Amino acid sequence: MEILKTENVTKYFGDFKALNNVSISVNKGDLTLIIGPNGSGKSTLINVITGFLKADSGKVYFEENDITNKEPEELYYYGIVRTFQTPQPLKEMTVLENILIGNINPGEEPINAIFYSKWLKFEEEMVERAFKILEFLKLSHLYDRKAGSLSGGQMKLLEIGRALMTEPKLIVMDEPIAGVAPGLAHDIFNHVIELKKKGITFLIVEHRLDIVLQYIDHLYVMFNGEIIAEGRGKEIENVINDPKVVEIYIGD
Ligand code: ADP
Ligand code: MG
Repeated sequence: MEILKTENVTKYFGDFKALNNVSISVNKGDLTLIIGPNGSGKSTLINVITGFLKADSGKVYFEENDITNKEPEELYYYGIVRTFQTPQPLKEMTVLENILIGNINPGEEPINAIFYSKWLKFEEEMVERAFKILEFLKLSHLYDRKAGSLSGGQMKLLEIGRALMTEPKLIVMDEPIAGVAPGLAHDIFNHVIELKKKGITFLIVEHRLDIVLQYIDHLYVMFNGEIIAEGRGKEIENVINDPKVVEIYIGD
């Protein structure tokens, strides 16, 4: 069953066409991967999907709702979150605090602030949930460390933790294992597989196909702002051996 689709999304930066009629379809519960050489438009596409850039034309649908050009804050209510290519933790705050700010606190809304006991209860539940996530990601022993002191790989995990706090339906990730050692990269994808079992859908952009190939359900290849190849399951093998695909990677 389809959860997300784009229809003919086009995006210009000035006169430069970064996305040219891009249509993709993501099934619920799948790990859909987009690959392509640097500058293909992968980040631009997920920026449009997650509301960080506005499309010039085309549509984006999530669970049959038209979500084209909605703001990221609004997409959060639909159950869409994203992580960034470069993790953006608040470096002076602790690991736990960074996870906690992944969520919206009802105490911040004036109407709820009156009910202090409700707010305290909510805080307690949030800390509990944050610790469960930290345990899942094997970061709980670092809960009171400043986020700025984490390794690059740990920061990537922290980014995932922040996304999980919002209990999303769809997690969109831009190069989650860029610059991460192979061992930790597989750890990250094993976490993704565990979350997939809980019904979370993943749309991931990644450069390093060698590591992620074994985990994916559906593959798209982008080049020059267009989808040039696509396949699911058994077809994926054919996609990566497609001469068009091989050629752009040799040039990369
Ligand atoms: P990828 O993620 O596949 O490496 P991007 O989506 O980041 O590619 O970029 C696609 C193209 O759009 C590149 O040529 C890039 O230089 C250009 N581009 C990306 N963002 C901007 C921007 N904000 N302004 C102008 N050009 C941009
Ligand atoms: Mg990119």
